[in-house]
Amino acid sequence: MIKELSELGKSLRAGKTDNPWVHDALKDEPISMELVITSTGEFNGLQLIEDLLTPSEAITAKKGKARLLLDKPEEVLCFGGDASRKKHQLFLDKLAIYKSLGELIPVIAFYENNVTGIDRALAEFVELYATDDKKVRKRLAGNIGFRIHSESSRIHEKQNVLQAVIDEYETTQRDQLAASSKKCSICGKTDFPVEDIPHGPIKRVPDGQTAGCALVSYNATAFESYELKGNNNSSICTNCAKTYVEGLNWLLSSGNEKLVTDKKGKTKPLFRYTNRRNFGSDTAMVFWTRNNQALDEIDLLDAPSAGEVATMLESLVSGKEKDAYYLVPERFTPVLCPVRRRVLRFGTGSKPAWGSFGYQSSNGSKTLPLGCMIRI
Ligand SMILES: [Zn+2]
Repeated sequence: MIKELSELGKSLRAGKTDNPWVHDALKDEPISMELVITSTGEFNGLQLIEDLLTPSEAITAKKGKARLLLDKPEEVLCFGGDASRKKHQLFLDKLAIYKSLGELIPVIAFYENNVTGIDRALAEFVELYATDDKKVRKRLAGNIGFRIHSESSRIHEKQNVLQAVIDEYETTQRDQLAASSKKCSICGKTDFPVEDIPHGPIKRVPDGQTAGCALVSYNATAFESYELKGNNNSSICTNCAKTYVEGLNWLLSSGNEKLVTDKKGKTKPLFRYTNRRNFGSDTAMVFWTRNNQALDEIDLLDAPSAGEVATMLESLVSGKEKDAYYLVPERFTPVLCPVRRRVLRFGTGSKPAWGSFGYQSSNGSKTLPLGCMIRI
């Protein structure tokens, strides 16, 4: 199933022909505030902006990492005092890697000009943060990006900066491939390294962590074998890891607003998922096909026929010929449940092969299955 998700992610990328910045090193991230400075690094103002997505450095996990020129107030402004010092240092360390870039000169000056730069920006941020307006508070918790006051594009969006991020990423990948080249179990190639790093968060898993959940993760030695450490056990190359994460995140979030009329006759926009249906508060099912055709099952779940839903779910369990409609190749249906202690297991039983999501009980003694998926 990871392979099908990865293929979906790759085909979604192939469809973005109007975007020149589709690369493993980059990812669109939300931005909710601009930190405006002068070309000599003096603080000019903070500008709240409507949530929008902006191309930036891709980081595979938030913990212990900072993103180049686009991050939260703790990282950018050391908001929160001593508790944020480590995060802020990570942000400065990241800047130092790219310090030879001319585009960064004003930002480096901003951090050196304590009084007219960072200190003034932090003071204004703290003042803004004193508001009771929940909407403003939410924006203030989002990502901040730098902009020179006389320019329209943000510094992290500049061509030279994005290219430098790609170059840095490719150099690191080449070094890793030179040190060790392993075949990826998903694409079967050795074009990209297999690394013991998080593959990236899966967002909007029902009842999951807000920062996202790891779909494949070896976070305890009990799951390791052949003396391999962490995610090296899963043998998924960095490219397939990024694309399966992109594919699954797209399935969980894709949708559009439709105008609906409520009981009182009021018309309002309602967001409708195109590839996802929720079951209760802790389970979601996602649907897709290899060629991205519309799926009847989604409508079936809106206007359920008890018999058909039962047949569909039973078909996953039984794999019998009479239920074959839901088992045809090209049609994929995994069930997603919260993955609290993050384990993905694949069994090797009878056809079709099974994988199951589960979580480890708190004493670590056993893995409790929470949901299942089928690989056809
Ligand atoms: Zn691969």
